[in-house]
Amino acid sequence: MNSIPYKTYLDEAELPTQWYNLRADMKNKPAPLLDPATLQPITAQALGRVFCDELVRQELDDSTPYIDIPQAVRDYYKTFRPSPLVRAYNLEKHLNTPAKIYYKFEGSNTSGSHKLNSAIAQAYYAKEQGLKGVTTETGAGQWGTALSMACAYFGLDCKVYMVKVSYEQKPFRREVMRTYGASVVPSPSMDTAVGRKILQEHPGTGGSLGCAISEAVEAASSIPGYRYVLGSVLNQVLLHQSVIGLEAKAALDKLGVKPDLIIGCAGGGSNLGGLIAPFVGEKLRGEADYRILAVEPASCPSFTRGKFAYDFCDTGNICPLSKMYTLGSSFIPAPNHSGGLRFHGMSSTLSQLYHDGLMEAIAVEQTAVFQAAEEFARVEGILPAPESSHAIRAAIQEALRCKESGEEKTILFGLTGTGYFDMYAYESFHDGRMTDYIPTDAELAQGFAALPKV
Ligand SMILES: *Cc1c(COP(=O)(O)O)cnc(C)c1O
Repeated sequence: MNSIPYKTYLDEAELPTQWYNLRADMKNKPAPLLDPATLQPITAQALGRVFCDELVRQELDDSTPYIDIPQAVRDYYKTFRPSPLVRAYNLEKHLNTPAKIYYKFEGSNTSGSHKLNSAIAQAYYAKEQGLKGVTTETGAGQWGTALSMACAYFGLDCKVYMVKVSYEQKPFRREVMRTYGASVVPSPSMDTAVGRKILQEHPGTGGSLGCAISEAVEAASSIPGYRYVLGSVLNQVLLHQSVIGLEAKAALDKLGVKPDLIIGCAGGGSNLGGLIAPFVGEKLRGEADYRILAVEPASCPSFTRGKFAYDFCDTGNICPLSKMYTLGSSFIPAPNHSGGLRFHGMSSTLSQLYHDGLMEAIAVEQTAVFQAAEEFARVEGILPAPESSHAIRAAIQEALRCKESGEEKTILFGLTGTGYFDMYAYESFHDGRMTDYIPTDAELAQGFAALPKV
């Protein structure tokens, strides 16, 4: 008998009652957002024209360590949380490693990813403010799906600008969103001034997250009763996602297990920021130490090849500027790169932690990621999202390193979602058509050249 169960669930009553705001324990706070008009730290008033009031407060609050989760949000959480912490016995056996591998699985809700944790919070605050609806962008589609579910639950309109390549590659994602009542527009579109401008400059472009964000922000600021919501990158999103880490830590504490290494995939940084939050809190307070590893795609390598600088979060340069590891807001990842993790920048909180040496990052190539995804699916059963599979890839590599060295490390990684809507990507992998694209230094230099001079 194994003394540690395959799956550990907390009780419903143990669902966290508060989110944890990692910034409160950071000595070097993430740099403030800048107003694009003045290049000065942005005021709550200016942010409030784009975002919901309570979310603005959360965005700017870098001193309150714990923030209550509203009861209505907790009640919705109970429909799909606490999520399981899984001991990957089958993967360990398959790899023949002495490492102990755990993953926190966020894919068991209908939207298929961790994004629902923040979507439901953001929709709640929009409803509380008496708004009519929200706009957003979606890349791979998970955020749009999660937000559609959340808006349906609270009776809000939801307008989603979906990156055009995904809109075309993932018609079923689109239909899920429409099932929940959202309207879905391929981006860039002719709906907005910024969309028309981008289409004129780059005819036939498949779009990018940065471009869809510009369109969604423009739409939110021009339709009365609407605000814009974002599914990653922002501090408020990391705050909501801390529920992942709080649950994971509570479950591990119950088992008496302390991870040595915590791994997560990094697109805008929200799942990783949420997973590591309580662990990094301990690290910052000097109570414990953990190795933290971010895994990003080699085709969009913001941490490993980006610059730590102020940059726009969107292609249209209408959003506030954030100090982050960035490839430049004009950087558009190669279209062969499947789905998520395509954002040019990174959460300012994670960027600061990385800059201060509190975490590490690696970039992995696409075909290696799908190899890991398939290996994992065959032994653990879960069909992982391509994004999540970046973390799987790194966890497998670390476990194999343990096999060589004989170390019995404990590894925790975030399994952020399922890949049922990514079957075209799996198909191109199986057919041997998938390629790895690594941008050249010259290509990256173009993005850096366009960084704002702040
Ligand atoms: C969106 C998404 C990610 C990446 O976003 P982060 O903000 O970096 O967490 C990772 N995995 C899945 C399944 C996603 O949907």
